[in-house]
Amino acid sequence: MAADAEHDASRRGDPDLAEELERALAEHQFLLLYQPTIDLKDDAFVGVEALLRWRHPIRGTISPDEFLPVLESTGLINAVGSWVLTTACRQGADWYARGHRFSVSINVSRQQLEQPSLPSEVARALADSTFDPRHLVLEFSERTLAGGAELRATLERLKETGVQLAIDDFGMEPGNASLLESLPIDIVKIDRTFVSDLSTSTSHAARVHQLVQLGQLRHVQTVAQGIEDDDQRLRLQSENVDVGQGFLFSVPHDAEAIDRFLEDYAIFSGKPL
Ligand code: C2E
Ligand code: MG
Repeated sequence: MAADAEHDASRRGDPDLAEELERALAEHQFLLLYQPTIDLKDDAFVGVEALLRWRHPIRGTISPDEFLPVLESTGLINAVGSWVLTTACRQGADWYARGHRFSVSINVSRQQLEQPSLPSEVARALADSTFDPRHLVLEFSERTLAGGAELRATLERLKETGVQLAIDDFGMEPGNASLLESLPIDIVKIDRTFVSDLSTSTSHAARVHQLVQLGQLRHVQTVAQGIEDDDQRLRLQSENVDVGQGFLFSVPHDAEAIDRFLEDYAIFSGKPL
């Protein structure tokens, strides 16, 4: 096991870290960064993905890979996930009120999806914030949904709130085609692994082609994650991928920096936002 993985695994059951995370929630140390998503056909700014960060008083800003496993194993993800949901809905409603009509995606862990109260919680967050449900996207990893026939009823109740549902990290698990047949999915997000070596790996290029075809067959929107250079963007464009996300367009930013990004983007692209 690599030193980092060993460190993470040993911290997974770390009671000190669990306690610190509980305090972090109470003391408002979590924040959301937002990463833009761009329409690959006409360069329009179509949305943002909300990404959790922990602003640690000593260690600075910490990425979710370092603490998400502990949030999930302790069940704290339910409280933190509620905060993510309400914060993202409020922020989305604020952008919307200022004329920025784009979608806001949030990531949802399996533990949250297993809570029978999730659909009513989503409905309440939408009603309280007045955010248009059609602009909220809930992302579930492919692994979360795999083999989860029992999750179908919850996903259908979520759909009844008017939100869109996305499969994140799409293409990694076997049998993913059946998820699109059996579950009410609107969007698939092609895993970054396939995008990163699109130009050097013919098998990954073929996989991207296959995933896009599958998405089109099922009439779902396709999003490519982790686009870092123009060559990748052009290849994905020629595959007719709908939307792109990645450092080529923008790293994740806090809400104020997204406001500035929107202004610059409108000037640069000449598009009214
Ligand atoms: P994800 O949902 O697949 O999010 C995309 C990740 O890829 C983000 O990492 C983002 O910063 C990174 N990324 C975006 N563009 C590029 C690129 O061009 N190159 C590279 N190398 N990376 C890129 P981040 O923010 O560290 O998040 C990691 C994972 O943590 C997320 O993966 C998601 O599964 C999870 N996560 C983040 N926020 C939340 C949350 O609020 N709740 C839950 N349950 N999970 C979250
Ligand atoms: Mg995601």
